[in-house]
Amino acid sequence: SNRLLMGPLVGAIDQGTGSTRFLVFNAKTAELLSHHQVEIKQKFPKEGWVEQDPKEILQSVYECVEKTCEKLTQLTIDITNIKAIGVSNQRETTVVWDKTTGEPLYNAIVWLDLRTQSTVERLLKRIPGNNKNIFKSRTGLPLSTYFSAVKLRWLLDNVEEIRHAVEEGRAMFGTIDSWIIWSLTGGTNGGVHCTDVTNASRTMLFNINTLEWDAELCQFFDIPMVLLPKVRSSSEIYGLVKSGALTGVPISGCLGDQSAALVGQMCFQDGQAKNTYGTGCFLLCNTGSKPVMSEHGLLTTIGYKLGRDKPVCYALEGSVAIAGAVVRWLRDNLGIVKTTEEVEKLAAEVGTSYGCYFVPAFSGLYAPYWEPSARGIICGLTQFTNRNHIAFAALEAVCFQTREILDAINKDCGIPLSQLQVDGGMTNNKILMQLQADILCIPVVKPSMPETTALGAAMAAGAAEGVGVWSLNPGDLTAVTCERFEPQINPEESEYRYARWKKAVMKSMGWET
Ligand code: ADP
Repeated sequence: SNRLLMGPLVGAIDQGTGSTRFLVFNAKTAELLSHHQVEIKQKFPKEGWVEQDPKEILQSVYECVEKTCEKLTQLTIDITNIKAIGVSNQRETTVVWDKTTGEPLYNAIVWLDLRTQSTVERLLKRIPGNNKNIFKSRTGLPLSTYFSAVKLRWLLDNVEEIRHAVEEGRAMFGTIDSWIIWSLTGGTNGGVHCTDVTNASRTMLFNINTLEWDAELCQFFDIPMVLLPKVRSSSEIYGLVKSGALTGVPISGCLGDQSAALVGQMCFQDGQAKNTYGTGCFLLCNTGSKPVMSEHGLLTTIGYKLGRDKPVCYALEGSVAIAGAVVRWLRDNLGIVKTTEEVEKLAAEVGTSYGCYFVPAFSGLYAPYWEPSARGIICGLTQFTNRNHIAFAALEAVCFQTREILDAINKDCGIPLSQLQVDGGMTNNKILMQLQADILCIPVVKPSMPETTALGAAMAAGAAEGVGVWSLNPGDLTAVTCERFEPQINPEESEYRYARWKKAVMKSMGWET
């Protein structure tokens, strides 16, 4: 046949909050050869509740894999060159399924979901001084609606079917990585029930110092440890794909999406940081072999552990719940844009918010405030304000929230960042990128191949022991070409607007008490 000569390829499943993708890279050049994407439905059955159908997620993974393989075949690229698959996933989102039938026992509770607010309050009452940071030294996290443990607690308290399945030993818990890997490696027919250290570090059941599930935490949340997946490194063979076009290919990389982006942006040095602009916004800074505990509202999380015998790397993280989601909200709830791309045109037409500030605290505020009582506000409106200004203010909100995180990281680390590496769906918006440079007063640097989350998962999979088609030696890593955005407004104006933003944030707090 007439097939292109091609070195080894590596695939990556990127299961995000908004969509699922499968991407295939050349392991020698890191070139993206083909991909396919499917949007995922989000259900909002009650105010504050956010769910997804685990079967739909799985179906989207299969569809993306099959479609990408078809596209590769059309490009005359032989899919048998795909030597490994990595998984990166939306983190914290919680699934419980029946291991005897392979059926989910409830919808996935998405990380943004707020139904556990009363669960959190109840748990806090049992802690001396209601100290939400009591488990911080062990888990790196404050007690919050965000992490999986409280979502799993809610499921055990409220879903009878799950309670029965637990009693009868049929239940399995997992974050989305575990659900995908278990299903792809055979499901009811010998599926592998595992997760990696980065995903485990977002459950609040995992001790980030010992790298094991923590029996005391499981006792505190009253979670039977038999439900939990086995915790593995981010780069090792977990199992082989059991069906479809890629039958027999090892799954050998697994990272939570934000950790995957840290790897894909090659932030392997202490002090290197990246910010990903997707549904939410997540700034991670590599802090090396020691976990740094934040004094300024950041999380301590696992950056990566690229092999069973490789050292673990920690990161400081600033999480913003609502970033791209506010643009979707402008599209779906206000209808002022037809597509999310259109927001750029709307903002560009005015080039200012005209004193309008938009705090999109739809799910409370995450870092650095961790304030579940906050709710969204749009303020500073005048007779003159129109949809363009609101669109501009929505984009500016994403930039201000990032500035708050960067300030916190600079305070915790001591050495201010001199530039910010960025990626994610929203970085296609050039107005946003320029605004971000203006508001941070440092350059913003975007790689020309923006799919860094998938790249990180592919790198982990390709470098795994027994696969070995991707070298992670610094000298072998392909240099990335980048687009730079330099700050253009004067720092005084930037400070003025930032101060106004903070005033708006104060107004959003304590709304829902
Ligand atoms: P996730 O991984 O969380 O699913 P993505 O990285 O795929 O997110 O980014 C999608 C998000 O980015 C959506 O919430 C969408 O509203 C937003 N987005 C995509 N393109 C643009 C754009 N050109 N301008 C502003 N926002 C955008």
